Amino acid sequence: MIEALATLLADHRRILVFTGAGISTASGIPDYRGPQGVWQTRRPVYYQDFMASAEARKDYWQQKSEDATAFGAAQPNDVHAAIVALERADRVDMVVTQNVDGLHRTAGTSPDRLVEVHGTNALIECQSCGERTDPGPHHARFAATGEPPDCNCGGHLKPATISFGQSLRSNDLFTAFAAADRCDMVLALGSTLAVTPAADIPLRAARRGVPYAVINRGDTAHDRLGVVTLRLEADVGEVVPAAVALALALDGD
Ligand SMILES: [Zn+2]
Repeated sequence: MIEALATLLADHRRILVFTGAGISTASGIPDYRGPQGVWQTRRPVYYQDFMASAEARKDYWQQKSEDATAFGAAQPNDVHAAIVALERADRVDMVVTQNVDGLHRTAGTSPDRLVEVHGTNALIECQSCGERTDPGPHHARFAATGEPPDCNCGGHLKPATISFGQSLRSNDLFTAFAAADRCDMVLALGSTLAVTPAADIPLRAARRGVPYAVINRGDTAHDRLGVVTLRLEADVGEVVPAAVALALALDGD
């Protein structure tokens, strides 16, 4: 099955890579939507409550601070690195990720070829002036004071993720769907493809008739739509690095 994926990758030059939680579990980041996911035990903080209530902001920063302690040192794995290798071989049109862990960027995916549709924990954003800053000092201040940090402008600071009740950023969606309209292949990795509108991005490309490879451990929402060209039921880490290495070797022949 590695050969089939490698052949597809070797034959295409404008690949849209769409990634989900499954590519980061090998970096030690749990799948929030899985059966044992943090979602099952945590009270979600809605964006509207975050903006309106100091108590909600405190709950939210407490959760984010626990995450930063648990996962802040996570490093990219072989799958992130394989996607970077594919880009350096000039085969990636865009990487669109549902993950908020910032690991594609850390691995070396070019910022202008990366759309983090659900935002990122790797930056803190002022909800009033939009200024973006590094998380470290804000987490340290919260740990020391227990008070959610505010911006110098008086606005509330929040990790730059899309919260419950918050819309996806229209310019990110525009960039991602433009790539879906332009790519010559789409590769979905480690996603159940169940969360929309994010999952509509690879689907739009597939519905244009370009080859669609889906690699995931467990069912995906696109399995029965008749649009998937190559479906590998596997851990992405077992398949993708080897397939990319083989594709790049085939290309060199
Ligand atoms: Zn501000």
